[in-house]
Amino acid sequence: MLTGASPVYDWRELHRWGISEARLPAGSEVRFRERGFWERYRWLIVGTVVLCLLEAALIISLLVNRARRKGADERFRLAVEAFPNGVVLVNNQGQIVLVNSQAEKLFGYSRAELIGQAVEVLIPERFRGAHVGHTAGFLASPQRRAMGMGRELFGRRKDGTEFPVEIGLSPIQSEEGPLVLSAIVDISARREMEAELLRERAELAHVARVSTMGELAASVAHELNQPLGAILANAEAAELFLEQEPPALDDLRAILADIRNDDERAGEVIRRMRGLLRKHELEREPLEINSLVEDVLQLVSGDAALRGVALNVDLGPALPKVAGDRVHLQQVLLNLILNGMDAMAGQPREQRRISVRTRSDADGRVELAVTDSGHGIAPDKLARLFEPFFTTKPNGMGMGLSIARTIIEAHNGRIWAENRPEGGAVFRISLPPVGSNQVIK
Ligand code: ADP
Repeated sequence: MLTGASPVYDWRELHRWGISEARLPAGSEVRFRERGFWERYRWLIVGTVVLCLLEAALIISLLVNRARRKGADERFRLAVEAFPNGVVLVNNQGQIVLVNSQAEKLFGYSRAELIGQAVEVLIPERFRGAHVGHTAGFLASPQRRAMGMGRELFGRRKDGTEFPVEIGLSPIQSEEGPLVLSAIVDISARREMEAELLRERAELAHVARVSTMGELAASVAHELNQPLGAILANAEAAELFLEQEPPALDDLRAILADIRNDDERAGEVIRRMRGLLRKHELEREPLEINSLVEDVLQLVSGDAALRGVALNVDLGPALPKVAGDRVHLQQVLLNLILNGMDAMAGQPREQRRISVRTRSDADGRVELAVTDSGHGIAPDKLARLFEPFFTTKPNGMGMGLSIARTIIEAHNGRIWAENRPEGGAVFRISLPPVGSNQVIK
């Protein structure tokens, strides 16, 4: 023991002899104490615990985040499922990553068959740069009609059948990269309604055409009745005068003069009818023949489909405009097309073809040709087609081409018909361009 103000002990000695520090007098000082585990490793322990906590927090936050994302995915999936139309989600490798049950129903494939399917990625103009596209592999028809934006799109079912679709595309950013969401709507029902509407319009046009011609024919018949009746009565009288002995030549001469007069009156009736059409009904405005052709083709497309006729159109580029009456020129074209269809009624369906071509010739005149693959025109009838009341149809009125010629001539144009060497007829119209020195007669 050392002397001094307060007793001092060696911790190593105390430890060796097993003397507890509690038994030392108060105020004793213990020296050379060995540091304990805690003292020695305190910072390591603290550091380790802190690190463990940090790691745990990280893991928890990752778990929480994952849970949260899973929740979002789930919500997204539910939203997609609730969508009333087919939805297909495609990644930028062109693989389907998500579909809803509407899409399954639309295409007749199961979800399992669709998910992961590598589909051809097509990138419509408006999505360029975003590396997204929509499915062509199962969507496009064999002719790849789905590739063209602005064209008709068709979906193809698992069984190979096709249906018209409308597709809305929206790019989506996801953690896996850009995706494209395609909302697919089956528009068969709408298409049918449109076709029905077209059929109705074509029927209406047909009725309007028939009733216009019917009215015209009725008034022409009424006006012609009188001179024709007089001619008949005079002819019968002439026969009686001829039977006299000697024949009453003076009376016969007078009768022939009457017949000539009545004939001229009849001719005048027809001329007046034509004049009426020219003076009162013709408008003149610069017209684009191509757009007029498109309007008429749309009008008859339903009728053509019903009658199994394929309509072809070949529109010449940069045609000059013509000055004319849109409604009347449409009527002429409509008539030519309907005549063509009538002429093909006896042909097998696959041979019923009408094509409408427009061109401009060297003089800048606009030419329009309507070609059919029908029975053609007997050579002896060719010269008479445009005469009023000339018809070879059991219920024909024979006014269509006569009116067509009246209208075309009122436009300073020409209309004529030819037989095609390969069968069928072609009706041609040539119209002067706007601004050429034309006067509507
Ligand atoms: P409709 O159609 O009432 O007979 P149109 O004046 O339109 O009156 O036609 C007169 C006739 O011209 C028809 O009856 C038919 O004999 C003939 N014709 C018209 N278009 C064609 C065609 N594309 N092919 C063959 N003959 C035609």
